[in-house]
Parts: sequence; structure tokens; C-alpha cells
Amino acid sequence: MSTAYISHPDCHAHDTGKGHPESALRLSAIDDGFIFSGLWDFIRGVDAPEVTQTQLMRVHTAKHLATMDAAMPQQGYARLDPDTVVSPGTMKAAKRAAGAVVLAVDLLMSGEIDNAFCGVRPPGHHAESNRALGFCVYNNIAVGAAHALEEHGLKKIAILDFDVHQGNGTEDIFFGDDRVLYCSIFQHPFFPYTPPPENSERVVSIPLEATAKSAEFRSAVNDHWLPALERFQPEMIFISAGFDAHRDDDMSYVSLTDADFKWVTEQIVRMAGLSASGRIVSVLEGGYELQSLARCVETHMRVLMGLS
Ligand SMILES: [Zn+2]
Repeated sequence: MSTAYISHPDCHAHDTGKGHPESALRLSAIDDGFIFSGLWDFIRGVDAPEVTQTQLMRVHTAKHLATMDAAMPQQGYARLDPDTVVSPGTMKAAKRAAGAVVLAVDLLMSGEIDNAFCGVRPPGHHAESNRALGFCVYNNIAVGAAHALEEHGLKKIAILDFDVHQGNGTEDIFFGDDRVLYCSIFQHPFFPYTPPPENSERVVSIPLEATAKSAEFRSAVNDHWLPALERFQPEMIFISAGFDAHRDDDMSYVSLTDADFKWVTEQIVRMAGLSASGRIVSVLEGGYELQSLARCVETHMRVLMGLS
């Protein structure tokens, strides 16, 4: 498999302040994991471009873009909400983060790569069309998915979200869009405290109790995600890859293991092979315990690369 790792040094420039869990150390840990494991030598690294206004406007309102531009401080820090800290480097990081997903789609559609992992920050799945939330400025995966639909004319795409938090932003953006199947598994009740969406043909949303472990997670995938994917037959699969449901990650109570993240990646690769010619764009969301994050991303990459 030809797998791209799309990122950019600018993604490290988003400074959230001392002690904030969503820090540039996350990307450094991922890079270090690739290097120490020896995987780095086999990874095709690609620099993310900046997203364009046109690409952002497919999923965000002009008001949101103007609000974000105005909110960025010249120095020091500003808060978009109690959790979402921004600084002078945030805007360029956010533009690279969304641009990475757009480039991944272009590289897949031109046949240059088989799949991609976007190692980017700030994360995106809480950002709604008109609001930033929960560490997220732009909804990176939604920007990429909209690019696949509008620029490349795909008719059916699936977004699979295994971050432990409900992806309220992605859901908000694609609500009612028949071209998008959105499948998620998340701890509930939990941040962002929005009511879980009603399930439908295009929304498969599976709340987990805080005590959930591997068995409940795997049942949710087997019983709900995989049948929905088989029915829908997506032409491309996007993954909101959050690793904060890991048992070592203090951000949630759900207790998944390295093996669960490997297993779910294998299931997704198999499903992508059935209807989507293997096309997968995976995008980093959460995951805040640096060691488990690095290990799980490395394994995720290995499965995407067909090495494991
Ligand atoms: Zn999360």
C-alpha cells in the first residue's frame, strides 16, 4: 500500500499554553514513535498545504470564518470557549490541518496514494458550521469530505468517528445530506453534552457507558458500523481517528486497548476494500496520553500501510 503521512511544521505552532492537554507534544510523540519503531523509513511524508477560503466555505459560514480571524491574538493567548485556547500560531496550524485532509483526497483521487493519515492539530470534529468548540477551530474532516463530494463528484462517502467524544460538529455539518454516512461511537453522557442524534439511514450513533471496554466497543462496530457500511457501499471512507478512549488516557472513562484500535483499523481497511477501492483518509482528532497515542497511531499507520 502507498500510504501518505500528511502533516506540517506549522501544526506545532498552535500554542495552547502550559499544561493544556491538546499540545504540540502530541505530534512530537507521534513522530518519535514512528522514528523509534523504524517505521519512519517507510513512511511517505507529505507537507500539508493551507486550506483555501473556498474549501472552508463549503462547510463553515462566512460569519464563522470572520469570527475565527478576529479571535486570533497578536500575542499571548485568547479563549474561544473555556477549553479552546488560541495563540498567534493557531491560524496557520488550523489552515494546514484542514488543508491536509483536502490534499489527502486529491492524492487518493489521482491514484498517487492508496490511503493517508493526517497528523494534524488543532483537531476538528467538534467545530460546527458556525462555531468553534472543544479544542477545534475548523472541522478538518468535514472540509476534506466536502471536497471529495464537490470537487471530485463522489456520491457516497462515509465518516467513521471513534474519538471518545461525540462528533457534534461533523454531525451538524452533514445533517440531512444523503451523500454522507456518519458513524460514531462515544462515551455518553459526556462532552460536548449535546443530545445524541437520532439514528437513521445516514446516522449511526452508538453511545457507550463510561464503564465500557473492548467488548462493548467491538460489539458496536460489529453490530452497527459494519452492517451500515455494507448497506451504504461508500466510495471513500474518512476516519475521525481519536485515541482518547484508551484506558491510559485520562480524558475519558472508556477503557480501550492498543489491540482495539488495531482491530477497528483492520475492520475499516477491510470494508474500504469492498466498496471504496481501499480509499481511506484518516484524520487525527483526540488522544492525549502521549505514550498510548504514539503507540496507537503507529499501529494504525502499520495497518493502513498493509504491514500488520
Ligand atoms: Zn475526543
